[in-house]
Amino acid sequence: MRRCSILLPVLLLLVLLTACQPRAAAPTGELKVVATTSIVADVVQQIGGDSFSVTTLLPLGSDPHSFQPSPRDMAMVADASIIFANGAGLEEFLQPLIENAGAQGRVIEVSDGIQLLEAPAGEADSGDADSGDPHTWVDPNNVLVWVDNIRAALVELDPAHAAIYQANAERYTASLQELDAWVVEQVAAIPPENRSLVTDHLVYGYFAARYGFEQIGAIIPGFSTISSPSAQDLAQIEEAIQSHHVLAIFVSDAINPTLAQRVSDDTGVQLVRLYHGSLSEPGGPAATYLDLIHYNVNAMVAALKP
Ligand SMILES: [Zn+2]
Repeated sequence: MRRCSILLPVLLLLVLLTACQPRAAAPTGELKVVATTSIVADVVQQIGGDSFSVTTLLPLGSDPHSFQPSPRDMAMVADASIIFANGAGLEEFLQPLIENAGAQGRVIEVSDGIQLLEAPAGEADSGDADSGDPHTWVDPNNVLVWVDNIRAALVELDPAHAAIYQANAERYTASLQELDAWVVEQVAAIPPENRSLVTDHLVYGYFAARYGFEQIGAIIPGFSTISSPSAQDLAQIEEAIQSHHVLAIFVSDAINPTLAQRVSDDTGVQLVRLYHGSLSEPGGPAATYLDLIHYNVNAMVAALKP
């Protein structure tokens, strides 16, 4: 009886305290910011600075086209204040994930506003929804658009830190402009006749357009890695490699290495490893987006310069 008389007021007090909690938005320290790929996450973190810590859905090294979310990912998305995605049809898993999770946070597609490249003639893309090239980040000038979209979304979500997001966006914009100038300088070492790109799937359209390369084709002839190339596709790319001056086949971890090795063996053209859709582990050669472009361009120049 005595225990009851003490417990009851305590319980009542707790109920009252809970009911009286103001239902304001979580303080900035508790912003739950989710990004799909490690590349999107890095750029969002550059703009966010110390204001929050971005949670990345895709594990490092995974393929954004074929990613299968887990129940843990669903919980993360359900709980997010805001979700940043590349968009442009890259993350085929995202729309069903958001619907199934009942996510309340805004979804920002950072590539929104970029004029997407269409599939080259004769290369039917297998994706149903978007037919444009989703690999916008291979040209740092497109990431300038990302920065604008990210800054605007963060300022709206968290106006108390607007000045920080603005300053970080300006600083990172300057880094991207420097990066672009650096790429122009580096690729000048590659003579025009050596500027043929063959990749595991069609990844370098925006890079080729900006820096004066030609995308000859890919082992998987589309913007996605989801389809498997037919025997005819493989014969076609091997023929294209032999009829052009192709010095390297640029591959990432995301594609079946046996297939790439077979094309390399058949044509005698070396495989060169790049980072396409994911950063490397921290401390690795492509731990940030800026590092990724540096690494890829250095590897390209080493493979293609005379
Ligand atoms: Zn891709």
